[in-house]
Amino acid sequence: MHSIVLPPSWRPDMPTARTRLLVLLGDPVGHSLSPPMQNAALSALQLDAVYLALRADADDLPGLLRGIARAGGGGNITLPHKEIAARTVEVPTGAVLRTGACNTFWLEEGRIHGDNTDVAGFRGAARSLVGRPLEGARALVVGAGGAARGAITGLEEEGAGAVFVWNRTPEKARALIGSMGFPRLREVDRLEPALREDWDLVVHATSLGLRDSDPLPFEPELLRAGTPCLDLVYRPDETPLVHRARGLGLRAADGGEMLVLQGAAAFERWWGRPAPVGVMREAFEAARRGSRNGGSG
Ligand code: NAP
Repeated sequence: MHSIVLPPSWRPDMPTARTRLLVLLGDPVGHSLSPPMQNAALSALQLDAVYLALRADADDLPGLLRGIARAGGGGNITLPHKEIAARTVEVPTGAVLRTGACNTFWLEEGRIHGDNTDVAGFRGAARSLVGRPLEGARALVVGAGGAARGAITGLEEEGAGAVFVWNRTPEKARALIGSMGFPRLREVDRLEPALREDWDLVVHATSLGLRDSDPLPFEPELLRAGTPCLDLVYRPDETPLVHRARGLGLRAADGGEMLVLQGAAAFERWWGRPAPVGVMREAFEAARRGSRNGGSG
């Protein structure tokens, strides 16, 4: 894949005429922790490339994505453009086709490829929380937006035995189930009794928890002892759901590890080599601490 030979005087913070451009396209992007995480990885491997965040309108997204890819670059797509990106790339992976969303693009043999590495990120984070492969697992997903689609696709790829989904707007859960074509995916009518059941994994995939004023998406007290609870939301400090669940002695994690692992999977698509995951995790946590202290992240 890509290999860029550097002059002896090159430093990671010094662009050259051959510097490869990697971007995050979305709106907004100013809060993103991907630039510090990806630039730390580029520096660690001495790659002549830079990762920048660009705010993009929906109308500009296809042109920007195509232009950057055709110039040899690549990047990530974030909200609200993952669906437009899925329709723009020329060679989508199975994860893009199943979720209808693309978060990573690059050029390979003259064609623009797209993947949804949120799926790989979710799989890694879920395995690490549960502590074993998810084959045959019984999982409950709360939420039916883009993050839920990524999680459900990840559970399907892991060979989960049964996945149940609950959403505030039931029609959206039904539409998701209808469009995903995953035979072991079912709807839950009522959340509270469902939470009391025996689950190998409970996934929180709504946007609740980003703001201090948000209510908890559900009461973790309802979960059985030992139920692993993965909150896909991440913020500078512990999410309220993770805080409460840990206080009850449950195994719980926020979306930080999923973000790091989706970034590592994207890095591997761009460079065709293993990502320095430890460096990326460390940079992400440092940037997250920085944003907690009022920095820009
Ligand atoms: P989305 O497509 O806009 O979906 C939002 C979901 O939240 C829907 O299910 C929606 O339900 C639900 N919701 C919103 N407000 C609610 C409320 N007041 N009460 C109950 N449910 C509510 O968003 P998304 O892309 O799925 O993102 C969801 C979260 O996952 C965000 O916090 C995002 O940052 C996070 N995420 C994390 C990662 C990671 O790498 N860790 C990756 C992707 C996303 P309705 O259908 O009823 O509106």
